[in-house]
Amino acid sequence: MYELKVGVIGTGAIGRTHIQRLTNQVTGARVTAVSDINQEIAQKIASEYDAKYYEQGEDLIEDPDVEAVVICSWDPTHEKYVLAAIRAGKFVFCEKPLAETAEGCRHIVDAEIASGKHLVQVGFMRRFDMGYRSMKAQLSSGKFGAPLMAHCVHRNATANAQYETKVNVTGTAIHEIDIMRWLMDDDIVAAKIVQPRVSKYVAQGQKDPQIIVLQTASGAIIDVETFMHCQYGYDIQCEIVGEEGTLRLADPTQLSIRRGGKCSFDILQDWRYRFADAYHVEFQSWVDHTKKGIVDGPNAWDGYAAIAVSDACLKSRDTGKWEPVIMDTIPEFYQK
Ligand code: NAP
Repeated sequence: MYELKVGVIGTGAIGRTHIQRLTNQVTGARVTAVSDINQEIAQKIASEYDAKYYEQGEDLIEDPDVEAVVICSWDPTHEKYVLAAIRAGKFVFCEKPLAETAEGCRHIVDAEIASGKHLVQVGFMRRFDMGYRSMKAQLSSGKFGAPLMAHCVHRNATANAQYETKVNVTGTAIHEIDIMRWLMDDDIVAAKIVQPRVSKYVAQGQKDPQIIVLQTASGAIIDVETFMHCQYGYDIQCEIVGEEGTLRLADPTQLSIRRGGKCSFDILQDWRYRFADAYHVEFQSWVDHTKKGIVDGPNAWDGYAAIAVSDACLKSRDTGKWEPVIMDTIPEFYQK
């Protein structure tokens, strides 16, 4: 079977899981090259997977042995690598965020439109999760009426030492922002951040947890709690309240235990386990569609729309007020 030749930029935590996934789980693809600023790890990965190592991501993108690119490097590098992939006319899967600001995403959108071809997919893997997909199917059936409210929770056990308050939005709540736009089929038009008391586990000068409140164009209100230092595990919750009923994600569990007067189940410890199936479906779909020359998942416009909301959230943190989401009208190129 023809195998899509993939180059991966960024061999950190998620880069390594994607390389492993593309090699051992997903069918029809092969990792032919890797790149990372951390040479030692990247060279080790390259020899383990029989792939080439490039010091510079741009050189990997130019390699004729790389047909499609996966970007898993540090957030501030995403924009330049996606632009380089578009210039090379190659399909590119970029982990979220597509760029750190709406302006950066707009550069990508403009470059993709100018290239005349859809090339970019963004790593919003929740759209491939069975729980969220079932919610979407139920909402689309009309049985629940219009969605009025949503309550979301995004908790991580601990964050790394480089944790910065803004990542609570650009790297964390960005998933809720995208999935809510997709589930409700509604753009988000305004955002406000409410800051509770800061946890003692948070580094000096940083803030966590936070509550984000979002308003959609049709008037629905979404609240999102993000808490990066909750200590007990990785906990994703979502409930949508419609006019005629509610939809709630079930807790992901294979086993519940009844013993000693208690009913319990394990809480997963990080995103790798919670969304393992979603990442698999996401990558199989990306490989299959890339081979057909199609972008079928969340596109550059979705990446732009999510970060435009993130910009409004970050502004609200400074002003303490509701901030409008400043976003251009969707170009014809992205209309479905
Ligand atoms: P990580 O473990 O810190 O890995 C990032 C890697 O990028 C590191 O090896 C880093 O090297 C490298 N890097 C830094 N600058 C680079 C450059 N200029 N060129 C190439 N590589 C560079 O972080 P991670 O958790 O894997 O996250 C990577 C990306 O994936 C982030 O954008 C993150 O938002 C995203 N992500 C998405 C999900 C999801 O659920 N979809 C989950 C996790 C992460 P050093 O270690 O030397 O700095």
